[in-house]
Amino acid sequence: MRAYPILSLTLALCLALAPLTIRAEEDEEELIINEYMDELLVEDVYGEGVWDFPVALSDLDPELIRIANRSYLLPSDYVPEDLTKVPRDPDEGGIRWAVTPSDGKLKGQYLREACAEALCAMNAVMREIDGFRDMYLKSAYRSYQKQKTMYHNRLAKNHGKDDGWVSMEGASDHQTGLGCDVVPKNWKDKSMNEKMMKEPECQWMAEHCHEYGFIIRYPADKKEHTGINTEPWHLRYVGIPVATYIMENGLCLEEFHDQLQEAIDRFLLAGGDPALVEPLIQRTAEE
Ligand SMILES: [Zn+2]
Repeated sequence: MRAYPILSLTLALCLALAPLTIRAEEDEEELIINEYMDELLVEDVYGEGVWDFPVALSDLDPELIRIANRSYLLPSDYVPEDLTKVPRDPDEGGIRWAVTPSDGKLKGQYLREACAEALCAMNAVMREIDGFRDMYLKSAYRSYQKQKTMYHNRLAKNHGKDDGWVSMEGASDHQTGLGCDVVPKNWKDKSMNEKMMKEPECQWMAEHCHEYGFIIRYPADKKEHTGINTEPWHLRYVGIPVATYIMENGLCLEEFHDQLQEAIDRFLLAGGDPALVEPLIQRTAEE
């Protein structure tokens, strides 16, 4: 009779402790799963596993790939950082100016620093090539206001019709400070047109500009995407990795952004960190 209370007590204790043991096992399992998920996140989602775009995230500078066109307008107060006067003496590592524009307080040809340096570096190499000695910078940074005046002058000249040669304000690649018109000597005073594509200098630029971080911003056969006629003279600086990808795959900047946006969507869907890709998403002035 006396054994019963002890037995009952043991039984009661066992019953009481059993759920605890199960709970502890469950906790341990959960911990293992969590650790596994953490590893997955670190190795696969944040790293190369899920960012499957051919250009690495670290090579995508949101400012350098910023797009300006009719769908993605730059704000009227957008002025790029570090605008710098492009040195104009080719013997001192610069590039000749075809004209000396004046734009508000700026008199001369201005570009963002990295773009100006890349342009001068490219020109130095071109000058070593037979017949390519005299390239001219015809147009570089243009402010929103300047573009507005140019666009409306063009419209007035064309009886109100947009002929696809001058972008409207906010839509010009020149406002980014990364777009520049570079022409051979015999075109320096001529009005530019697609025939310039036949010039060996322009063919060389189309083939080699990516080595300096440039793309041909308005290639032939891309008007449906860019809305702009072909401009073999208009270079746009995006940095070497992006330029190489764009030029080797025969894209325009708009197509590049379409592909990039798809890669961002896949990355986010797989649980990638939104903060890493948010700055790369293109927005128009009103958003
Ligand atoms: Zn241009």
